[in-house]
Amino acid sequence: MSKTLVTGAAGFLGSHMVARLLSEGRQVVGIDNLSTGKADNLRAFPDGVGGFVFIGCDVTDPGVLSIPELEGVTEIFHLASPASPKFYQARPFDTIEVNTTGTKLMLELARRRGAKFVYSSTSEAYGDPLVHPQDELYRGNVNTWGPRACYDEAKRLGEVFCYEYYHRFGVPVKVARIFNTYSAGLRNDDGRVISNFVTQAIAGDDLTVYGDGSQTRSFCYVDDTIRGLRLLMEKEAADGEIVNIGNPVEHTILQVAHTVIRLSGAPGGIRYMPLPEDDPKVRRPVIAKAKSLLGWQPEVTLEEGLRRTIAAYRERMQGGARP
Ligand code: NAD
Ligand code: UDP
Repeated sequence: MSKTLVTGAAGFLGSHMVARLLSEGRQVVGIDNLSTGKADNLRAFPDGVGGFVFIGCDVTDPGVLSIPELEGVTEIFHLASPASPKFYQARPFDTIEVNTTGTKLMLELARRRGAKFVYSSTSEAYGDPLVHPQDELYRGNVNTWGPRACYDEAKRLGEVFCYEYYHRFGVPVKVARIFNTYSAGLRNDDGRVISNFVTQAIAGDDLTVYGDGSQTRSFCYVDDTIRGLRLLMEKEAADGEIVNIGNPVEHTILQVAHTVIRLSGAPGGIRYMPLPEDDPKVRRPVIAKAKSLLGWQPEVTLEEGLRRTIAAYRERMQGGARP
């Protein structure tokens, strides 16, 4: 049976990907160094049971190439990397390493095993965009000299490694530029906006809006993103391609705050805080390429996704847990 490697398996997207692959009956090896991910995210999949093996290690360690469990791997989802600004700014050098050295090592593993490869790049590759909405041909507006650079520029260099392994060695590489994805799988202390707003609303705290809340994002429910990444891996037509995976419906952050307040019945109000440096003002994907190459588009509206997220956070927090 073919085997899939998921790096960052204990993280938000990684643990959803593991669940999806196991439900399809695949053998899965998960790698994670548990820096921003939690072993608890994998509690439903005990190591060594039901086709799942977990390896606690760092993908920037060259020893990763000789892990015996990685014999026979035919697909690699390289999802390891801090993704929340709170976490990547606390670990800038690790973030650069995992997306550069880590990506090169995972591509080398793909080359040696003849495996297909999906890289989790990001809408941050477009930086604070001067073109709106963003299609894959837009080359971006990224600042090298700021707090987001360790993530944005490392992802862009990760894409360069993918390009070279595709063109020099013919590795079937696909690059996903993932736009803001959410669900109850995000840690309460993740720091990203949906996690913060829903946690604050349920706790009865004010929602923290940075700046005046007029900046926009386009939020994709996790099931849609995972389905897009699976299709990207499957479709040969996507080899050597960069594809936006995101929901093209755009909202201001203030609208999102009001929607969370309405859906949760939160007693709290809104507390305005300073806008972080280099915070992109707008973000919305053009998904024509994903539609034509993958036959993919999101299905879950923000309102429906938020209902599910609020219900699950409420259950978790009423149980006393704030993972
Ligand atoms: P996450 O922080 O929840 O998960 C990342 C996982 O990678 C964590 O479990 C962490 O412990 C692990 N990890 C980090 N460095 C590692 C290393 N050197 N070796 C092994 N494991 C390591 O983040 P996420 O939201 O699940 O994001 C997953 C991927 O998708 C990331 O590459 C991220 O950049 C990308 N992405 C996510 C989003 C989003 O909205 N969630 C958007 C764009 C891109
Ligand atoms: N944001 C906010 N309040 C929060 C967290 C984030 O207003 O408690 C804003 C943030 O300034 C940004 C947007 O929400 O404009 C999305 O932030 P997030 O960290 O989720 O992801 P980003 O897209 O910036 O990487």
